[in-house]
Amino acid sequence: MRLVLVGPPGAGKGTQAEFIAAHLSVPKISTGDIFRANVSQGTPLGLEAKRYMDDGKLVPDEVTINMVRDRLAEPDAGDGFLLDGFPRTVPQAVALDKLLADLGTQLELVMELVVDDDEVIRRLSGRRQCRGCGKIWHVEFEAPSRADLCDRCGGELYQRDDDKPEVIAKRLREYSDKTAPLVDYYGAQGKLVGIDATGPVEDVTVRAIDALRSYGG
Ligand code: ADP
Ligand code: AMP
Repeated sequence: MRLVLVGPPGAGKGTQAEFIAAHLSVPKISTGDIFRANVSQGTPLGLEAKRYMDDGKLVPDEVTINMVRDRLAEPDAGDGFLLDGFPRTVPQAVALDKLLADLGTQLELVMELVVDDDEVIRRLSGRRQCRGCGKIWHVEFEAPSRADLCDRCGGELYQRDDDKPEVIAKRLREYSDKTAPLVDYYGAQGKLVGIDATGPVEDVTVRAIDALRSYGG
């Protein structure tokens, strides 16, 4: 299955992507994770992306689209994928449609995780991520047994620079200006399914997988 997850920063895309990708046996492709890996390796792409990420802005479309084109050309994405955090603008969505059409295929489903701004702010303010395995934690809602260590791999937990309050506000504005229009874009294609992303992580996963089943996933 070729699936996209959309929703505001903090909606739980990365958290759910792990379960959904495992359920579908497809790779999870997170543009945020790819940018962060490039930032930590100090690549030219990382240096460019960091300027935008630190300021709560989206990385320019051309840079992002080229990166995704390369990633989708890798063999593991040939039979399906789950995109987390891409597309995030209408030009990115148009480019993705074209890229897939050139490969003789198309997106099957776009799942929107619906959650309000207050909850998003609570989730982002307490988010912690593991430097080792990438697992996403929350100081209150998905608390590790030791505040600074990952229970899964023992790696160090860190707070993302862009999860600081002033950057969160800018990211939410970017979302409503540039990403929210995708709901209409994919709605018009008849590919959009919205799910309630509030409540415990496990409940959201059940809703997501139920929705996938009704679309053949
Ligand atoms: P996104 O990828 O959409 O930015 P994440 O998956 O990183 O969002 O989740 C943001 C934060 O919210 C993380 O700290 C995560 O542990 C927490 N979180 C995710 N889903 C839920 C949920 N259903 N209830 C409470 N907290 C959640
Ligand atoms: P995320 O991990 O999805 O929250 O993304 C973190 C940051 O990476 C975003 O705030 C953007 O600066 C950048 N980013 C991730 N995906 C995209 C995208 N599709 N288009 C532009 N910028 C992106």
